[in-house]
Amino acid sequence: MKGSGQPDSDAHAGADAAPSPHQLAAWDTDHVWHAFTQMAQYDPLLIERGEGCTLYDTDGRAYLDGSASMWCNVHGHRHPRLDAALLGQVGKIAHTTNLGLSNPTTVEFARRLVEVAPAGLEKVFFSGDGSSAVEAALKMAFQYWLQANPPREGRTRYVSISEAYHGDTLGAVAIGGVDRFTSMFAPLTFEPIRLPSPGGRCPASGRPPPSLLESLTLLENVLTTHAGQIAGMVMEPLVQAAAGIYVHPPGYLRAVRELTRKHDVLLILDEVAVGFGRTGTLFACQQEGVVPDFLCLAKGLTAGYLPMAATLTTTPIWEAFLGPFAARRTFFHGHTYGGNPLAAAVGLESLAIFRDEMVLERMPAKIEHLRGHLARIGGLPHVGDIRQCGLMAGIDLVADKASRRAFPWQEQRGMRASVAARKHGALLRPLGDVVVILPPLSVTLEEIDSLCAAAEAGIREVTEV
Ligand SMILES: *Cc1c(COP(=O)(O)O)cnc(C)c1O
Repeated sequence: MKGSGQPDSDAHAGADAAPSPHQLAAWDTDHVWHAFTQMAQYDPLLIERGEGCTLYDTDGRAYLDGSASMWCNVHGHRHPRLDAALLGQVGKIAHTTNLGLSNPTTVEFARRLVEVAPAGLEKVFFSGDGSSAVEAALKMAFQYWLQANPPREGRTRYVSISEAYHGDTLGAVAIGGVDRFTSMFAPLTFEPIRLPSPGGRCPASGRPPPSLLESLTLLENVLTTHAGQIAGMVMEPLVQAAAGIYVHPPGYLRAVRELTRKHDVLLILDEVAVGFGRTGTLFACQQEGVVPDFLCLAKGLTAGYLPMAATLTTTPIWEAFLGPFAARRTFFHGHTYGGNPLAAAVGLESLAIFRDEMVLERMPAKIEHLRGHLARIGGLPHVGDIRQCGLMAGIDLVADKASRRAFPWQEQRGMRASVAARKHGALLRPLGDVVVILPPLSVTLEEIDSLCAAAEAGIREVTEV
């Protein structure tokens, strides 16, 4: 669609007249640079409102929110309690700084987070988005070793996993491994020690992932070879989401915790995607009884209402940052809106909803229902592997089912299938040629039926003609 050109007379055509959907679409194309979007082929779709798991565009068309509005919506849109919590906080104050000051709502939220987090994570550093939560953990881990007792200098390296995604700021890009997003920026970043993903085929060779034993042997080799050089190991527990929903074998996370502890390496778990019930437990690491040294949270932290992130850590790590000001142990890092009270009010209410609406208790039925649909979709002639963990699933579209040969990536089959699913009433956001199903946790069984039917129709439309 072409834009409207320069801002001109129609900008003044009546100060009170609301712009038409057509006008808004034109302005969108003209002025808004969308994230992860090739703007030369951008086709505007403006979501004006939402209710539960349904989104409505400016023409009044309804779609199921099959990507939980980019993986962050938890209890549905316009949840009355979340709306009320937000308005209640607006009536007090919208924002005050977290730098050397505090706010009752933010304090209460920190306290609740510590109560629900794995035992031992007692300190909460707030920031604004997932990338920032990861950056804070990377810097804290590095600074920790310099200030540990005794100090351990030379720990400048990080271990990460190929195909991992930890955000788009430069530190997060450095440890990330989704080449199609990050390889261009390699000259600007540091090099982590990368382990092959234990959860997905190698995108280059199509080889299946290494076995659990192979993965752990590789890790132990790295920890031994680079002893004394590694500040921390960073990973998404259970599932590498943006990689294409790569699900790790059971036992991997627990073994990583044991090995990192044995070799005195800090473990940073990025639960930005998998936290807040996505995998069936409040936090993914709880499924393997693991307590990391840092837990990074964002997306679902405010149930998809407002940007907020948190980096949780332990008392021993926090203590290394204490001392007289002149000892230079302060963590000189932070973001203007960190700990924002509006976001904290909603996050606090979201945790209460988890409890009162028994959100986690109602997950297994939904997870199994989704599994049933995926088994059927797995029979389609151009569907290869399907991976599911909790209420997140990735469906590989392949040119050849038997050999799992990929479609040429330029053909954008995943994107085309997702766009085709819109006609059938679902909004999906793919990862390359992986069609992703990731609805709000409040999704009903009937909505799962409709979502999967739409995904299936979209897939058939772009692979079977
Ligand atoms: C989305 C995501 C991030 C980045 O979060 P932003 O809020 O987009 O900065 C980091 N890690 C994981 C695992 C994510 O899924």
